[in-house]
Amino acid sequence: MARLVMKFGGSSIADGTKIRDVGRLVKSLSGENEIVLVTSALGGVTDELLECARTSASGGKVEDVTAFVDRLSKRHNQAAMEAIKDSLIVKEVIRITTQKLSELEKTYTGICYLGELTPRSVDYISSHGEQMAAPILSGVLRDMGLVSRYYTGGEAGIITTGPHGSARPLEKTYELINQRLMPIEGVPVVTGFIAEDEAGNITTLGRGGSDFTASIIGAAIGADEIWFWKDTSGVLTTDPRIVPRAKNIPLISYREAMEMSYFGAKVLHPRAIEPAIRNGIPVRVKCTFDPDYPGTLIVKDDVPTEGVIKAVTISENAALLNISGAGMIGTRGVAARAFSALADAGVNIVMISQGSSEANISIVVEDPQLDVAEIALRAEFPTDVVRDISHNRNVCTVAVVGAGMAGTPGVAGRVFSAMGRAKVNVVMISQGSSEHNISFVVSAEDAKRAAQELHKEFGLDGEEA
Ligand code: ADP
Ligand code: ASP
Ligand code: MG
Repeated sequence: MARLVMKFGGSSIADGTKIRDVGRLVKSLSGENEIVLVTSALGGVTDELLECARTSASGGKVEDVTAFVDRLSKRHNQAAMEAIKDSLIVKEVIRITTQKLSELEKTYTGICYLGELTPRSVDYISSHGEQMAAPILSGVLRDMGLVSRYYTGGEAGIITTGPHGSARPLEKTYELINQRLMPIEGVPVVTGFIAEDEAGNITTLGRGGSDFTASIIGAAIGADEIWFWKDTSGVLTTDPRIVPRAKNIPLISYREAMEMSYFGAKVLHPRAIEPAIRNGIPVRVKCTFDPDYPGTLIVKDDVPTEGVIKAVTISENAALLNISGAGMIGTRGVAARAFSALADAGVNIVMISQGSSEANISIVVEDPQLDVAEIALRAEFPTDVVRDISHNRNVCTVAVVGAGMAGTPGVAGRVFSAMGRAKVNVVMISQGSSEHNISFVVSAEDAKRAAQELHKEFGLDGEEA
């Protein structure tokens, strides 16, 4: 009997019929395995919750909030009615989701009056998608004769530090989860994405954070494997929205999967692999709509393959900052000052590059942090060595990832010749000394073409459908 943590993403549980299918799938696997389920919100709900929060804070009307909450209520009630046959269970689930929605409506109304949206209230609001999905999924399992109760992330023991919006689990989380979920009774369902701080306020682990939840729980309960059920046939050689013929990668290392997610592959949350690494737990990415297909297995060691490159990624979430000035040449400590100023402002640096002329340092940050980053740099360098600070939002980062490129000459040459052929202008280049990726910045309109060309160059294109 294997102990498994399984996470279902929003597209896998988008409506009642799909939730029932998930219930069937879990039931069929529960006979021979111990399973803990982690659920996302119903597909698209988190985006809608956040959008309503933003409009409420910027002059939104209370009637619009009521209309939105009614729509959400209908969608969740309908999903519960479609997914669950036993009317008593349906009633109980609808009572819970209705109560959650009434709390939510009060919060939105308060925000409409105040016109203020704090990071703490954003977390509270965006947690409601998972808070409504978990009782439905747990209800379906009970409807099918399994024992199941649901937990919020906090109830399951996930206690975090800040910041709101990208909270990190405290070390004691691992012990707490173990105390609360073990021994596993039936199939518990835990809300992904959401947790609590030590004062009991709701926190969230960042967009796509249900993957991270599943991995934290897997590490805490000593799972044999962690499975992410998605709408794709595993981790693919690139985003299928960029290259529809992108192929499944059957086997990949933790490191490669992490690099892919750092550089924008939305398929996994960037921190999702970290807890699995603690205990060396294998991670699988499987397709909910084709459960017998093996999908992708993510393991500890690098797995050599014929080609040097395993995947190509694009991140649209990038912005470029340039600091320049002739005074920087030969002046010590400019880079250190820039990086400290950014670190103090809480800015995450994605990529850096400095030419040997030293008159210019380019820094890629996440787009939402650009303004804070620029303000911090201007405050650090008011008049001295740095003459000019400028930014460019209209950029993407493109990366090729694969352990096989370490020590293999000519990979960078192939990457940039391919860019030359595709007439893509490369704005900035970076390669970590791990040599597991080569990443570079291009203008936003060139990004897709760049990724398609690289996919072809490294022989990743699949058969014509
Ligand atoms: P879930 O909500 O189930 O976690 P996501 O929507 O977050 O699913 O992630 C799956 C999506 O990630 C896919 O539908 C696909 O569009 C996108 N994606 C981006 N890059 C990749 C990749 N390399 N392999 C697979 N999917 C990818
Ligand atoms: N529902 C959250 C989001 O949309 C978390 C997740 O789906 O993993 O970001
Ligand atoms: Mg996701």
